[in-house]
Amino acid sequence: AEPVSSYFKVLVAGGPGTGKSALIGQFMNTEFADSFDDDGTAEKTVTIQLDGYEAAMEFIDYGDFVDDGSIEDLNYDAYIVIYSVTDTVSFNVAGDWIHKLRHGRGTDRPIMLVGNKIDLVRKRKVTIEDARELAKTYDCKLWETSATLSHHIDDLQIALLKRIRNKLNPE
Ligand code: GDP
Ligand code: MG
Repeated sequence: AEPVSSYFKVLVAGGPGTGKSALIGQFMNTEFADSFDDDGTAEKTVTIQLDGYEAAMEFIDYGDFVDDGSIEDLNYDAYIVIYSVTDTVSFNVAGDWIHKLRHGRGTDRPIMLVGNKIDLVRKRKVTIEDARELAKTYDCKLWETSATLSHHIDDLQIALLKRIRNKLNPE
């Protein structure tokens, strides 16, 4: 195999049932995904080919917890903070996460705020305007996705990779 030119670690955080497992599963299967490792644990790594460049991205599923401040290792290259658009509690949990990442721990790494389950149109409780406001306040990029329908998953993955690269090598 070709040597991997970059290896990035991404923490996936959010409340229970928001779609963390579903999202990470879909990331292993996008059109850019070359190969992936699934060893049955919470960590999954996918190799991505983009513009003649190869990157490995490891996604770490933080699980179903509200952040209790116990993440000591801040050594992630980026964060995905996910909520369900059908669940206002999960949106508040996402807000708490982002606040702690930006202020408590002071990271300036990319944060993607992901509103999942947009296929459940009639059950939507969180508006895109509220989500945009949160994203703007904390300098996050907002995505709305459906992990079930694989809607915007490829775009999110590529945007994430580009953001990490730009952060490391600003133009
Ligand atoms: P986790 O607890 O954050 O890991 O959430 P899961 O990935 O296990 O998803 C929780 C439930 O929501 C499961 O029944 C999924 O099938 C469902 N789910 C996940 N993503 C979506 C989505 O985009 N749309 C819909 N309708 N259901 C979803
Ligand atoms: Mg899960």
